[in-house]
Amino acid sequence: MSYDVIIVGAGPTGASAALFTAKAGKKTLVIDNDQSVTKRAWIENHYGVESITGPDLVEIGKKQAAKFGAEFVQGKATQLEKSGNGFRIATENGEYEGSHIILATGLSVELAEAAGIKTKPGTEPRIKSIIDVDSQGNSSVKGVWAAGTTGGVSMHTIITAGDGARVAINVISEINGERYVDHDVLKA
Ligand SMILES: Cc1cc2nc3c(=O)[nH]c(=O)nc-3n(C[C@H](O)[C@H](O)[C@H](O)COP(=O)(O)OP(=O)(O)OC[C@H]3O[C@@H](n4cnc5c(N)ncnc54)[C@H](O)[C@@H]3O)c2cc1C
Repeated sequence: MSYDVIIVGAGPTGASAALFTAKAGKKTLVIDNDQSVTKRAWIENHYGVESITGPDLVEIGKKQAAKFGAEFVQGKATQLEKSGNGFRIATENGEYEGSHIILATGLSVELAEAAGIKTKPGTEPRIKSIIDVDSQGNSSVKGVWAAGTTGGVSMHTIITAGDGARVAINVISEINGERYVDHDVLKA
């Protein structure tokens, strides 16, 4: 089975990206090994949310994406390589194929480096390495994108979640061949 989009990482970055790609009708898989640093946070600076625990933010985000059809599998993604017109990702528990990949791996660039994707030193506090991306979120390997902490943005939930959404919209737009927007209208 092949996915339109495979996202590695289900923290605020990855689950937010999955919410957008799944809601846009793209067959979406999220692979995660449950090491989100957000699970240690208490958050009072996420716009629109008075306060929330990190674990709740992560769980609600995953539920939102699942509501629109995103599938989640648990396990560490250990290998990413080209396969046919897309990519194959191997985990401890299985292998998955997808045409577009979004890396939302937080503090870890291990998978990207193993795949030969270009990384560079991080600029944010305590971030050692990030994936080298262009302004759209493209990595050095076409078809592999990166977002959030691992894409080099400021490490705050409102920003990493927003960056996951931003890169997802770029991926959806590339698949559709035109700029994509997702606006629901208030029902009367
Ligand atoms: C103690 C603490 C307090 C914080 N407090 C705040 C706060 O008050 N306000 C605020 O805005 N921000 C706060 N933050 C920062 C916030 O957690 C981050 O900005 C942001 O949520 C990071 O999101 P992310 O999705 O990029 O990374 P993460 O949430 O770390 O998610 C990355 C995910 O990728 C997965 N992953 C990585 N590699 C692989 C792999 N090879 N295979 C499968 N899965 C993989 C991990 O398991 C993880 O689930 C805090 C952080 C910490 C540590």
